[in-house]
Amino acid sequence: MFRSLSSRLWLSYALLIGMILCVVGAAIVLVVIRGNIPLQQAALSLQKLRLNALPKIRAAGDLSPEILQGMLTRSADQIEGRIVVLSRSGEILADSMADRGFSLPEIDFETGLTKVGELPQSYRDNEGRSWYYIIDSVNEERLVFFAVYRPRLQFMTIFRDEFLRPLILAGLMALFVSFVLSLVMSRWVSAPLHRISQEAQQVVAGEAHPIPLQGPQEVRHLARAFNKMATQVRQSQQSQRDFVANVSHELKTPLTSIQGFAQAILDGTVESPEGLANAAGVIDSEAARMHRLVLDLLTLARMDAGTAAFIMAPVDINDLLWTVGQKFSPLAETAGVELEIIPGELSRKIEGDADRLMQVLSNLVDNAIKFTPKGGIVTLSSEEGADQILIHIKDTGTGIDAADQQRIFERFYQVDKARPGGAGRGVGLGLAISRQIVQAHGGDISLESRPGEGSHFVVKLPVPHSSSGES
Ligand code: ADP
Repeated sequence: MFRSLSSRLWLSYALLIGMILCVVGAAIVLVVIRGNIPLQQAALSLQKLRLNALPKIRAAGDLSPEILQGMLTRSADQIEGRIVVLSRSGEILADSMADRGFSLPEIDFETGLTKVGELPQSYRDNEGRSWYYIIDSVNEERLVFFAVYRPRLQFMTIFRDEFLRPLILAGLMALFVSFVLSLVMSRWVSAPLHRISQEAQQVVAGEAHPIPLQGPQEVRHLARAFNKMATQVRQSQQSQRDFVANVSHELKTPLTSIQGFAQAILDGTVESPEGLANAAGVIDSEAARMHRLVLDLLTLARMDAGTAAFIMAPVDINDLLWTVGQKFSPLAETAGVELEIIPGELSRKIEGDADRLMQVLSNLVDNAIKFTPKGGIVTLSSEEGADQILIHIKDTGTGIDAADQQRIFERFYQVDKARPGGAGRGVGLGLAISRQIVQAHGGDISLESRPGEGSHFVVKLPVPHSSSGES
């Protein structure tokens, strides 16, 4: 009962209509009472009585009280009210309700006469009944008193007869209109909601369609938020699929190599000592690659889950530069690339995890050496800004074109997938991990590069406000 939107709407309309009708009814009752309709009616009745009876009473003139009483008693049935003939001294000469013995009000016989057009006066008789009355003169000696009951509940009767029916009719019509209106309104509100709930069930399957922005503003907001959420879910489902496909691919390639060379050794295809050494070398480098991949995936998974432990301590960036320089100088030498370290004037340390930052710089320098041809230069330098320390990793290598620059930090993204394999070949996770580590420090990595001219990576790390110290 009253669970659906339309029934609740209708209920609220019905309550509203009921309230309005009550207020209107109360207002009508008030108007009836305030307008003193009973008094108006009494004035009319008394006027009628006076017009009908006064000429006859005047014609009867000075008839004796007994005859007058006889006249009134005989025509008592036709008299709608009470007629009393009085002497100017206040003595009752004849009374159409003599047998009932109702009392009369205190009458001032000098000024008490009711002028024509004047409203009647009221009084309560000895039995507590209310009357409206007027007084007129018959002749020099006599007065006549006309009275009618004051109807007690008359306004209720007036209300019932005059207003109740139209009010009920108006109420019924309003209820019908509100019923139709509630159906229309609820369809307006619930149709898009229904659509959202239908599409929500499709989200899991990745088949949700965008919902048109219809209905009231709140529902439109909901539809907009739903569309945004559905797009994000779709994207994350897609990136999850891509991720699994990439991981499978990256595992399949070395595994195929390992399996091929192992098979060749087993079935005796490779027999010579050089061939065996070569096969073992390939198996070793592919296994190392898989190992690196698994380690990278673990790091990413921990960072995604927020469980990667960062051991934060003050870190001197120039110390890091020297360490990285030492670590990579043999590789640079082998590659025929000059590795230059230019430490900047740093007055402050940053707050960070030295090992993780080392991982970032290692990846960037490793890439720079890898992608710089023989005779090129890789420069590692630092610089202090207002509230951050900048590390520049510059090379004179192949550079990266604009389209690839946008995507280079994505997981598994490699500019040249067909690069020859080997122990040093990456899988496209290095920059993604580096960026996540730097972001976890509150910093950022940016890139400037021109194809053929080299690349320039900048790692920005914030310096805590209170930090100061010797470099
Ligand atoms: P990978 O493990 O393949 O090196 P990265 O995430 O470290 O993965 O780098 C992604 C890709 O970005 C690389 O495959 C390479 O194409 C490109 N890249 C990274 N650094 C450089 C650089 N200094 N010069 C040219 N290309 C680069």
